[in-house]
Amino acid sequence: MPIPSFQRFHLPPASNSSLLVTGGAGYIGTHTLLELIRAGYQPVVLDDFSNGSHLALKRVESLAGHTLQVVEGSITDTGLLDAMFSSAAEHGSPIQAVVHFAGLKSVGESVAKPLDYYQTNVAGTLTLLQAMERAHVHTIVFSSSATVYGIPLAQPYTESHPIAPVNPYGSTKAIVEQILRDWCAAHPAHRATCLRYFNPIGAHPSGMLGEAPEGIPNNLFPFITQVAVGKRPHLNVFGNDYPTVDGTGVRDYIHVVDLAIGHVKALEHSRRATTGFVAINLGTGRGTSVLELLHAFQTVSGQAIPYEFQPRRPGDIAECWADPSTAEALLGWKATRTLEDMCADGWRWQSQNPNGYEP
Ligand code: NAD
Ligand code: UDP
Repeated sequence: MPIPSFQRFHLPPASNSSLLVTGGAGYIGTHTLLELIRAGYQPVVLDDFSNGSHLALKRVESLAGHTLQVVEGSITDTGLLDAMFSSAAEHGSPIQAVVHFAGLKSVGESVAKPLDYYQTNVAGTLTLLQAMERAHVHTIVFSSSATVYGIPLAQPYTESHPIAPVNPYGSTKAIVEQILRDWCAAHPAHRATCLRYFNPIGAHPSGMLGEAPEGIPNNLFPFITQVAVGKRPHLNVFGNDYPTVDGTGVRDYIHVVDLAIGHVKALEHSRRATTGFVAINLGTGRGTSVLELLHAFQTVSGQAIPYEFQPRRPGDIAECWADPSTAEALLGWKATRTLEDMCADGWRWQSQNPNGYEP
């Protein structure tokens, strides 16, 4: 019987396994740090804490039983980056690869403040890549997004769907992907894996790590959990007249722990890859409507979620979900956690930490 592709490869980390994790104090970064440490890597975190949490990193340390090296600063700071790469090398643990989460991520804010987004997401990544070149670090795993695809021509999105972002945030991700494509073409040792995330939700099953948005959440799942915990009176459902299963928007929700594990697999892939650049969807391959997610959450949590229908949110598409087959073929990765797992873990996090990482 042929061995399924996802069982075929399992590489342990390289003997020197120091990594730089930018944006490691954020939502996806903290979950990924745990998986990286479990896989044997030694991550060094660089975060400016503009949207990250020191307490979250303390919780990662306590869950992992591992002390993290944390540097507070920006990916736009050339001197700091050079000093970090040099110091790691001088202490006998040169950085082998970079997992790059740091950036700004709100679509709406990117429309209002496009220059901030180009500065942090594009110029910041260029500064990082230049420092990597000086330090002879050849490998990067980059947080891209399904937003790069723009208006869907067909569903599911495959990686060959045209790249046509419709907002500045999506454009920053598409531009960085192009920079990484060119960077890989320029040198045979360069490796860049762009992970195009679909909709990460949920939390670590311990209830100790999760998403802690500032102010009113823009995204559906944290809004639902805040209604459930009594912080918001009801959910506004944006649009009930889409050509979807029940008229509400459909997305591919993926458990943040599955997403985190995808980064470990991407690093393993970089070490055996023979070509430089690759872009890979990380999704489940399943679409879920707003009402389906809401009902699943109500069932799992036992909390009623009052909701009201509102007009469509400008810029939203009716539905999108991933074709995740490239991830399975190349990385040996497949999402395994269910929508119920996402709801149960997200509810545990929100109910145990009603104010996120704040007291
Ligand atoms: P997050 O805001 O929780 O984490 C980003 C981290 O980067 C934060 O800790 C923040 O303090 C830090 N940061 C911001 N600017 C920085 C800078 N100049 N220098 C150093 N650190 C800086 O976001 P997240 O949800 O964990 O997302 C991580 C990455 O994944 C982002 O690049 C985001 O665009 C991308 N992404 C996220 C989603 C999502 O739905 N969460 C979807 C697709 C892609
Ligand atoms: N949505 C909603 N109410 C909210 C936030 C989002 O009905 O308060 C809908 C939104 O219109 C979309 C889906 O939920 O159909 C997912 O939205 P989210 O912002 O979480 O992700 P994205 O649109 O970026 O994929």
